[in-house]
Amino acid sequence: MSRIRILSDALASQVAAGEVVERPASVIRELVENSLDAGALHIEVHVQRGGAALIKIVDDGAGMDREDAMLCLERHATSKIRTKEDLAAIYTFGFRGEALPSIASVSRFRLATKQADSLSGTEVEVHGGKLIHVRDSGNANGTVIEVRNLFFNLPARRKFLRTEATEYSHVEQQFRLHAIANPRTAFTLTRDGELMFHLPATQDLLERIRGLAGAELAARLIEVPTTERLGVRIQGFIGGAGLSRSTRQMQFTFLNGRPIESPSISYGLREGYHTTLMKGQHPVTFLFLDMDPHGFDVNVHPAKKEVRFHDGHGVREAVASAVSAALAASRTLPTGHPSSARHSPIELSPERPPSSLHLEPETTPAPPPAQTFLPIPATFSTPSRSFPQPTAPPPPTSPQTAPQTPPTPAPRPTTPPEPAAPSEDFTRYRILGVLHRLYVLLESPEGLVLMDQHAAHERVMFEQIRRAMEHDGVPTQRLLIPLTLQLSPKDADIIFRNLESLNRLGIELEPFGPNTFKVETLPTFLKTDDPMDWLDQVIEELRGLSGSSSSLRLGEDMIATTACRHAVKANDHLSLPELQALLKDLAACEMPYCCPHGRPTLIQISHSELERKFGRRAPG
Ligand code: ADP
Ligand code: MG
Repeated sequence: MSRIRILSDALASQVAAGEVVERPASVIRELVENSLDAGALHIEVHVQRGGAALIKIVDDGAGMDREDAMLCLERHATSKIRTKEDLAAIYTFGFRGEALPSIASVSRFRLATKQADSLSGTEVEVHGGKLIHVRDSGNANGTVIEVRNLFFNLPARRKFLRTEATEYSHVEQQFRLHAIANPRTAFTLTRDGELMFHLPATQDLLERIRGLAGAELAARLIEVPTTERLGVRIQGFIGGAGLSRSTRQMQFTFLNGRPIESPSISYGLREGYHTTLMKGQHPVTFLFLDMDPHGFDVNVHPAKKEVRFHDGHGVREAVASAVSAALAASRTLPTGHPSSARHSPIELSPERPPSSLHLEPETTPAPPPAQTFLPIPATFSTPSRSFPQPTAPPPPTSPQTAPQTPPTPAPRPTTPPEPAAPSEDFTRYRILGVLHRLYVLLESPEGLVLMDQHAAHERVMFEQIRRAMEHDGVPTQRLLIPLTLQLSPKDADIIFRNLESLNRLGIELEPFGPNTFKVETLPTFLKTDDPMDWLDQVIEELRGLSGSSSSLRLGEDMIATTACRHAVKANDHLSLPELQALLKDLAACEMPYCCPHGRPTLIQISHSELERKFGRRAPG
């Protein structure tokens, strides 16, 4: 006999659903999280019509007995918190016992579940919060949840659902987050019956990333070896120099195994990448943080896993230093890749929602060879890289296959990086000629290398000035007539607190009455007609940095912007000895592969790529 009754506070559940359930992707977030909590080893996610028609999750987790299967649909029913202490100590997130009743109150909901030791399972059906029936079911061990016609009883909410394609891309993004966070769990995703992802369980995070984002992208990642700093353990993979996106969609960050977002982490990433990232670009990261759960609060917003760290500065600094050390240790040669953000479909489609992830270029098995540059040959990556790479066949025997010693990771900002470690011997590359008075063609043992002479010069100047700053300060020119800076009390205070780093940047200042300074010297490299304008920029930079401890960053940013104005112009003619000198200087740089704005200085086209293009070898 079916008993129809209204579940306790169904209305309250609908209200709660407004917070928990925003769209199909948020249903998937909650349900997959539950499956993981239930210890599932295999999780299937099926969606129809972007999830608006059907979301179905099948897991092989612990399942529930009949009592729990009923209870889990009551508000505030959770098996995960028993005492107040659990609340603080719990490593997992968001246990409020609210998800299932919320979802069931705004959909046609069906739950079928069975525990391994019981003979039969239980099926519960609830439509819009109304219990339709409870009965025995014959399903396998584990749990199946079906959510049909999301918001069918809330037309206003249903109207807010976007197009199928948009909702699906949110679904896929959510799926990726779970799949990356849990490589040991097998996942599948189907869309309208079509298999989109089939990800077997693996111990190897990089393999999981490859399964999700494609081998091309995975090959361009560098490892962040496990570091512990300020109570934060950090590990994972990040994009090497030259790999970035115009949105944060490839910035995956996890805390204690759960996907989260946090401004502290974002700032830390930015700081860690610093000059290897183009302005307006976001890094590609698969970064895992672990720390004592007492050190943060989750669920600032119920629908988003936003985290507030108690020591946000510490987290930011730990992330920055882990990232910059990994980048410094990797020194990989960027390749001109078609998936670079500027050509990515993310920007081209106005349909695409801000939080969606689109990876078609990477997931396509064989990208069009016309635009593809091969992944970096093994000789360019550091020997410390522990994961096998799906690279092209090994490069032909080369005089420089001797592995380099990895440079000592130099954490920033407390310790500035060590000057150049043993570097690529670019000087041994044969100069073939110059194209368009800009691109220097070089022959390397692995193939053809193109150097952007302008970008290369910028990098060289940038590092020279920065080294000078770190040691004796940059050369300065004394002003005949000192400039007077009249500032707001707030800006004056900022200047006061940064007098020393300004000094090292070549800006000597003297207090000169209330909120006023006299500028005695400026750096010699500064060749501007309007020093006041430049100083305004400096102050603005400082304003943006207030609260951040790294004054070195200020110097670097200012150098980056100024150095470039004085680098060789794109079409300057350089003689052969000048080109050789430039190569030599670039080889001596700490980060020779990109300019201070993150644009590549060198791009390589390997032999095998050339062979493929000329049809000497079957594609891919
Ligand atoms: P919470 O996850 O915060 O506890 P939910 O409403 O998401 O709240 O789930 C309520 C309870 O239902 C969980 O605590 C768990 O005991 C049970 N449950 C939900 N989904 C599953 C599942 N897939 N397998 C086993 N138990 C589940
Ligand atoms: Mg839950």
